[in-house]
This record gives sequence, C-alpha cells and structure tokens, in this order.
Amino acid sequence: MSTHRPLLEHTAAHAASFLDGLQDRPVAASATPAQLREALKRDLPERGCDDTQVIDELVRDSDAGVLASAGGRFFGWVIGGGLPAALAADWLTSTWNHNAALHACRPAAAIIEEITGDWLARLLNLPAQVSFAFTTGAQQAHVTALAAARHQLLGDQGWDVERQGLVGAPGLRVLTSGDEHASIRRAVRLLGLGTNCLRSTGGDEHGRMDLAALERELAEPHGPTIVCLQAGEINTGAFDSFTEACQIAHHHGAWVHVDGAFGLWAGTSDRYRHLLDGIEHADSWTTDGHKWLNVPFDSGLVFVAHPEAHHAAMSTRADYLIHADQHDDAQQPARDEIDWNPEWSRRGRAVPVYAAIRALGRRGIAEMVERCSDHAHRLATGIGALEGAQLLVTPEINQGLVRFLDPEGRHDARTEQVIEVVQRSGQAWFGPTTWNGMRAMRISVVNWRTSDEDVTRAIAAVREALRTTA
Ligand SMILES: *Cc1c(COP(=O)(O)O)cnc(C)c1O
Repeated sequence: MSTHRPLLEHTAAHAASFLDGLQDRPVAASATPAQLREALKRDLPERGCDDTQVIDELVRDSDAGVLASAGGRFFGWVIGGGLPAALAADWLTSTWNHNAALHACRPAAAIIEEITGDWLARLLNLPAQVSFAFTTGAQQAHVTALAAARHQLLGDQGWDVERQGLVGAPGLRVLTSGDEHASIRRAVRLLGLGTNCLRSTGGDEHGRMDLAALERELAEPHGPTIVCLQAGEINTGAFDSFTEACQIAHHHGAWVHVDGAFGLWAGTSDRYRHLLDGIEHADSWTTDGHKWLNVPFDSGLVFVAHPEAHHAAMSTRADYLIHADQHDDAQQPARDEIDWNPEWSRRGRAVPVYAAIRALGRRGIAEMVERCSDHAHRLATGIGALEGAQLLVTPEINQGLVRFLDPEGRHDARTEQVIEVVQRSGQAWFGPTTWNGMRAMRISVVNWRTSDEDVTRAIAAVREALRTTA
C-alpha cells in the first residue's frame, strides 16, 4: 500500500479548496506577525508527527497570513498567478526531484530547458542564437547578464575578470535613466562593481532614457560601459526607444542590457509589438516567468546575445561532475544548465514554463497580455474618474498610477489612507509608490485570472473607501 498517495490526494484537495475559495477570501492577509507566530510557532520538535497532521496544521495555521495574490483582485507589485498547467507541472518537477544542474543528473529537465529556451527566444522576438538561463528571478537574471557583460567588456581591455577579479581592473560604468529598477543596483553590488559605477542620463517623467544625454555621456572619453534600458518601467510600464538607444550605445562600444521583467511579454502581442521595436539589437535581456507568464515563483529568465561571454562568466568544472561536453560523443553535446546559471543544484525551473507555453500557445499568451492590459486601462480610468481621485498615468500596457486628493492639499497622506482602507476591505489590493515626487497608487495587472467582474469589484472597493473616509 502506497504511503504517499493518500497524503498527496489529501494535499491536492487542500490546494483545490484554496483555489476554489479565492473569489471569496479577503485579498489581504488578516493576521499580524504576532498572531502568525502564535499560530505557527512550536517548540523545536524532538520527535516527528504524522504527515497528514503536518499538512493540515500548516494549512490551518498559515491561512490568515496568505494574501490572495493567486486570485484576480490583487494588483500590487507585479505578481502573476499560477496557470493550472504550470502549477501542476511545478508539483511534478518537485515530485520527480529534478535537480537541473547537469544533463547527466536529469536528462529530461535538461532537454525541456533546451526546448523552452528556444521557444522563449522566439516568443520574445530575440535573436535566434541567444544563450539563456533559468534563474530564481529577474534579480539573479540581471546578475547573470551583467556578469557576461563584465566578462566581455573587460576582456576587450585585455583583462580576464574571472581570473583577475576587479582589483586593478579598468573601471566599468553602468548608465541608466536614473529610474532603473532597484534590482539593477543590487546586481552591480553583487558583481563587485559597486553602486558608484552607476551614472544617470536622466529621463522623461515616465522613466524613458534621455537619448541626447546618452549620446553626450558616451561621446566623452570613457571606459567600458553598460547601458541599462527598460522594457516596462515598474511604475509606468514605459519602454525605452531600443532602436535608437542600441544604435548610440553600440556606436560607442557599450553593452546594452534590457530589464524586461514583465514588459518583454508585450512583444508577444500584435497590438504592442511596436513598443519593443529594435529589442533584438540589445546584448542581454532579463524577464520573468513568474510575472506575466503566470508560472509559479522561482522563474527568472536571462538571454545573452554573446553565448561565449555568458558561458565564460558562468561555467564551472569539477571532477565529480559529469560534463556533457566531455562525455558525450554526439555531434551536438547536451546542454548542462550549470554552465549558464549562477546556481549549482536547482529545481527544474523550465518544466512549468514549458507547460505554460504549451497550455496557452503564442496566441493564448498574447491574449492574456492584451486582456490584462485592457483590465489595467479600465481600472485606472475607472478609479481616476471617481470623485476625489486623479489619474496620473494611463496604462499603455498593464501598469497605471492614480492618486487621491485632499481638500487641504495633503494628497500624499490622503493617497496612503485610501490605499490602506482598500487593502483592509479585503476586496482588492493595491500598493503605493512615489512617482515624480508624489505618493501614488500603483495599478498592476498580470494575473491570468483577473476578470471584468474583478475589475468592477475593485473599482467599487475604491469608491467605497473614498466614501467612508470622506
Ligand atoms: C520584478 C522586477 C524585477 C525583479 O524581478 P524578480 O523576479 O522579483 O527578481 C526587476 N525589474 C523589474 C522591472 C521588475 O518588475
């Protein structure tokens, strides 16, 4: 008699109940940290207990600390849900105990990754020969891409950074609009470049890089340079002008990196593809599976137009490993994931991505992107039209900004108050940000589940919050 079947079926029933209940549960978590500690804390167990009890109590005790971000009325940060096929495939990749470090360790995971990487490059309009890696998220994808850039740019100066490190190396600088995502800043810290390497060209109010300033910066004598562009600014969803920016940067020998954590997916849609014109000219790109593709978390993606630089920055060797390029007689050796990733052991991250792409197809992904963007537009204009609200940024894709006005001019405090009251209502969840010096409410729609009815309910929740706090 199998010991796992009753437990897995029981757990699947918990999961299905959670998903069935998403429409009705409050979107915000209801428990305080103290309440969660009280519910979850136990003395370090000396002896084990029954598996079913572990699972039942885990579900019961953490419930009040779970935001319903898997549901359709969570519009905070940029958080996707799990497409059913991707969620199910994610369970399986754990079940199979995939360690996607080496082909030898998990041939199926390695080949799925090879195929999925190729699909992604084509879906996202990237050059056919790009190399790729599946990372924890866009944060680590940036680290991977910028490590490849560092290798190439310093190598061009006769400096072998993998061997020599950075002490005494030619100074590298990283140009941004000044509105780069904070994960770029952390990536340069992790790579030993330090945030002093960052230079801002300045940009427009939507965060798009000032190209004349980029040209001026690069025209001056300079050392090796990386230019960071954005496909989808975190507050406004704005896109840089890739054709022109890449032309300027490459003319001056710079490497172009694109942060497209969610915005790269707009390129799957005929309606939005023009926003990414020229994207193929960049040198590296990052995006996420766990945002707009709606794959469960732990799904970052990086692509590099210079596979040799990517490989040189990441590859590793050890006597106890079995490296495909040393042991495979085939013409085309298998691909070892460890040679492209910053991780050693890791889960089979490509498996849920493969499942998501198969379940939706290119058309289904494009429809999801367009549907989310339509919802974002309706949310932003609907909320912006409410008495006491102001529309700040109308979504071009899936991101918009509004704020709330105070009769005495304390708009920032009023905006925070309304956000908090909406969150507490449990009807919808939006988060705050600062945009052009103003506190604002971010509207981000990337969840495949969001429906017209969710949008109507969310607008009603904001209307109610404005009314009760007037
Ligand atoms: C979310 C996000 C990141 C960081 O991505 P993670 O997957 O959370 O590591 C970077 N840049 C942008 C624009 C983002 O939206």
